[in-house]
Amino acid sequence: MSNPSLLILAGDGIGPEVMTQVNRVIDWIGDKRGLAFDVSEDLVGGAAYDKHGTPLHDDTMAKAMEVDAVLLGAVGGPKYDALDFSVKPERGLLRLRKEMDLYANLRPAQCFDALADFSSLKRDVVAGLDIVIVRELTSGIYFGEPRGIIHEGNERVGINTQRYTESEIDRVARSAFELARRRGNKVCSMEKANVMESGILWREVVQKVHDEDYPDVELSHMYADAGAMQLCRWPKQFDVIVTDNLFGDLLSDAAAMLTGSLGMLPSASLGAPMANGRPKALYEPVHGSAPDIAGQGKANPIACILSFAMALRYSFDQGDEAVRIEKAVEKVLADGLRTADLIGEEGVEPVSTEQMGDAILAA
Ligand code: ATP
Ligand code: MG
Repeated sequence: MSNPSLLILAGDGIGPEVMTQVNRVIDWIGDKRGLAFDVSEDLVGGAAYDKHGTPLHDDTMAKAMEVDAVLLGAVGGPKYDALDFSVKPERGLLRLRKEMDLYANLRPAQCFDALADFSSLKRDVVAGLDIVIVRELTSGIYFGEPRGIIHEGNERVGINTQRYTESEIDRVARSAFELARRRGNKVCSMEKANVMESGILWREVVQKVHDEDYPDVELSHMYADAGAMQLCRWPKQFDVIVTDNLFGDLLSDAAAMLTGSLGMLPSASLGAPMANGRPKALYEPVHGSAPDIAGQGKANPIACILSFAMALRYSFDQGDEAVRIEKAVEKVLADGLRTADLIGEEGVEPVSTEQMGDAILAA
């Protein structure tokens, strides 16, 4: 059998810097754990535009469709701000998401004990927190028609349409239930069925998928506003939260802040199962290209390294290896190592991107 395949798109800004550290982890896993990957690397975003005049070359797109998983760094930067919308770096990422049809966006909110004081909430509310928000990513109000600003009488009206089909709800619900089975076996679905038709359908379809195919998973429903409140009050009551595109956008950003720094947060975007039964997948840190610190060796590589750990778990069935990486991250943080973004009041000396990589490999 051939090795599992991974396409690495480091992108722009701090993307290549943090990806260098991921490459070291991949080499380590090959050497020390006998787990070899067929890794290919290519360009995306501004880097691809500079070389090809497009933020994602067709050949790169074709490669992304073939591999077991794509790992992306970050795209964009001030150098590309003036570009036409059609060739902006972000369009490279949007094309990947669209053509790979990645409809389930997984955003873990995990709080390492050593960083619990970094949260805006009390330590006992967040310490040990480990939840995942599954956000529907390809439909809903951001895409629904009709949309636009129209003239009505003597004023203008801004219109967006929230629209979900049964099959769109069904497939993202399945992603959430599958995920829950590998975790705490608990799903909370959030919508506004009290005031929205799409919310009524959402609740009905999620319940149906549960009753028919996932009765072993504990399912609850919550209105999204109450859910937002509960997320801030006592987030540890949740395991997996599944919600639509708009609510997921808000809830996952709020959940992110429970854990402290942007430099710590991984994500996965999953699509339909491939022939091997695993979903099409793209993994990336939540943070962007951070032009303000790019090229200075200051970036925190942990979000990108944890994104690779997610790939090990969800695309390669190597949950034990993922845990090994997460434990290493936990240890270096407990040992007091901090990149600049993780330093608050305490005033310790920050380590560089590479030093953080060294320490994680050693751990
Ligand atoms: P985008 O539009 O691509 O999301 P953004 O400007 O909204 O970009 P980021 O690029 O993520 O967001 O940067 C936001 C802030 O967080 C910046 O000040 C940046 O320096 C900091 N930051 C982001 N990622 C990291 C990281 N991995 N390590 C250290 N600091 C980071
Ligand atoms: Mg941003």
